[in-house]
Amino acid sequence: MRRNGSPASCSPGSRGRSAQVDPRLVPIVALAACAGLGLLFWLWLGRARGAIKRLAWRLSLFAVAIALVQAGRAHGIFQHASAPFALALGVTILLVIIGNLYAVRFCTRCGRMQRNFKLLKCVRCGDPLPAHGFTERPRRAPLDPTDPLGRKKNRTRRGEGP
Ligand SMILES: [Zn+2]
Repeated sequence: MRRNGSPASCSPGSRGRSAQVDPRLVPIVALAACAGLGLLFWLWLGRARGAIKRLAWRLSLFAVAIALVQAGRAHGIFQHASAPFALALGVTILLVIIGNLYAVRFCTRCGRMQRNFKLLKCVRCGDPLPAHGFTERPRRAPLDPTDPLGRKKNRTRRGEGP
């Protein structure tokens, strides 16, 4: 039985490939993390046209997905996994990307990111928000705000029925 304190497990050669960190990469990874946080902050609150921010959001999501797949390859996840698992992982990543592309909307005028799907207008400038993340077309407000199906008020005729 091996324990963690044994000399074999303490030697640098016995550790896995993932435990070795190149010290030259640390500042690069830190800079990339800061740039990613800055990009997220700009996407959330920065002022730009909605189309520009939507494009940046799409590129960011695809870059994150590619980075995840590359990290999985570097750690050997795909080499030791079965084909159905790799397929399920790929489909999951794709579904998460599509879900985020659909759910995150950007105001067409000021570019504020909005994840609350109930809002019809931008909280910053009051401009109508797009219907979903794949379009700039604003969502049509329901004719009767109290009716979730959006029917017209007083449309039913009184006096009909049994
Ligand atoms: Zn706005």
